[in-house]
Order: sequence, then C-alpha cells, then structure tokens
Amino acid sequence: MEVIILNPHGYCLGVNEAIATALKAKKDHPDKNVYLLGLLVHNEETVDWLKEHGLIPLDERKAGLLDYLLDMKKGDVVVFSAHGHPDAYADFAKDKGLIIVDATCRYVKENLDLALSLETPICYVGVEGHLESEAFLANCPEAVFYDVKSDTCNFLKLKGMRATPTIITQTTLSSFEVERAMNNIHEFFPDAKIAKQRCHSTTLRQQAMLDLPEDVDCVIVLGSARSNNSVKLAEIAASKGKETHLCLTLEDVKALDLSKKKRLALSSGASTSNATFDAVFKYLRSL
Ligand code: SF4
Repeated sequence: MEVIILNPHGYCLGVNEAIATALKAKKDHPDKNVYLLGLLVHNEETVDWLKEHGLIPLDERKAGLLDYLLDMKKGDVVVFSAHGHPDAYADFAKDKGLIIVDATCRYVKENLDLALSLETPICYVGVEGHLESEAFLANCPEAVFYDVKSDTCNFLKLKGMRATPTIITQTTLSSFEVERAMNNIHEFFPDAKIAKQRCHSTTLRQQAMLDLPEDVDCVIVLGSARSNNSVKLAEIAASKGKETHLCLTLEDVKALDLSKKKRLALSSGASTSNATFDAVFKYLRSL
C-alpha cells in the first residue's frame, strides 16, 4: 500500500499559539487553578495532554461558559479558547477578580475586528452552537446569522436590511457550505460579497482534499468528530466518492481493515498533533 500525505497537517498556527498560551499561563501561575473555558481545541487527545500538564478544561457541551465563570473563585486563572468569546464574559471575569488569559486565534479576531469596523450590515455565515459563531454574534449582535447546518437564517431580517450586507464566514467552513450560503443570500442581494472568510489553514487543507488524485482508494482524516474543520475534510473526501475514515487516535486507525487498499491519503484537522500524525504515518508505512 502506498501512503500519500496531504499538506498542511498537524496543528495550525492558531492551535499552536493557544496551546503555548495555556501552558505559559500554568507556568506563570503554578499554584493557581488554571481553567480552559470551553475546550481550548476540539481534540480529546490534546485536551487529555493539557490535563496532564495541570490545566483544567471545561467542556462547553457540559455546561454554559457563564456557569463555569460563576463557579470560579477570585484569583483563579481563566484561559479563553482559540474560538473567541463574548466580550461580556471577559468583563465579568475581570470584575470577579479572575486572571484573564486570551488564547483567541488571530484569524478569529480579524473577522470580528473587520465586522465592527464596517458601516454596512453584516451577515455572518457559520455553524449554529459552535463557540466561534456564538462569540461572534455576541460581540456583533446586529449581524444576521446564516446557519450552514440547516441552510437557514432570519430571511425576513436579511431581506429588511437597509443596504447590501457584507458576508463574513466562520473560519472553518467548507467551500461547499460557503457556496450554498452565498447562493441563497444572492437571491435577496445579488451583489453581496464575502469580505473575510476561512483561514489559510482551513482553505489549504480543503484544497489538498479537493485535489485528491483519482486513484486514491481510501482517505483517513485524523481529527475529532467535534472538530469542525476535521469533519469538513472528511465530508469533502466522501463527496469525492472516496472511502473515508475520521479517526481520533492511532488505535482507531489500527482497527480499520486496510488490507486491500492500494493508495491511501492521510490528512489531519488543525487540532491534531504532529505526534499523532507521525505515529499513524509510521504505522501505515509498516503495513
Ligand atoms: S483553524 Fe484557522 S482560525 Fe481556527 S485556530 Fe486554526 S488558524 Fe485559527
């Protein structure tokens, strides 16, 4: 079996920076509780690794972020995740006497800064319930939200906008999702344009998947089912008719029957470590 690697792979810039920021927070405050508010990155292996380094991850699916903040004590350290957060939460944490560390990815910040600087109305295209979308909408409440999961938005509000909206998208959508959303928005505003969309890490990984060689008969995407960008990579591979597996760990890959595969492509989401990628690649080479 031949194995080809799709690049880029491993942690993206934003995840690398968020992890470094969280580790530094613990190093700077070794005797304090250092909470990661919302999983710092959507990858269970990485989250376990962060736990081993003394950090306390707080899963946004288990409780609301505000509830977690309410439970913290003065002097605790709170690390806001790479996905961004409502500014009101940072104000609340400050008033409560918490030490704030911001690990928001620079590309996520750029999206919001751009939206706040524009005079046109904003339509934000994203995934309902995702931390990044929720943070954006909390900080830019006038924006109309278009949900790519259901392909719906408040069309009445959209239609009633005073001018053609500027479109801003969540950083980790797929090109298919963006295209579908734009087609629907263009029914109301044919001139609407995207001002800022996915980050480079996302677009390059997706482009590599779109350019998959014809003779690849199996694709493995390393990443969590909770990682939006990993799921999108797997969806693109499947849409090209390839047998596709989204695997979190080396053990997940070992459980696959790859005995009849001739040419396999290996990719990863932006929150999968290079260590996992390298271990899987080594295993596949051994087959
Ligand atoms: S995927 Fe892109 S936007 Fe998200 S953390 Fe990585 S670099 Fe930032």
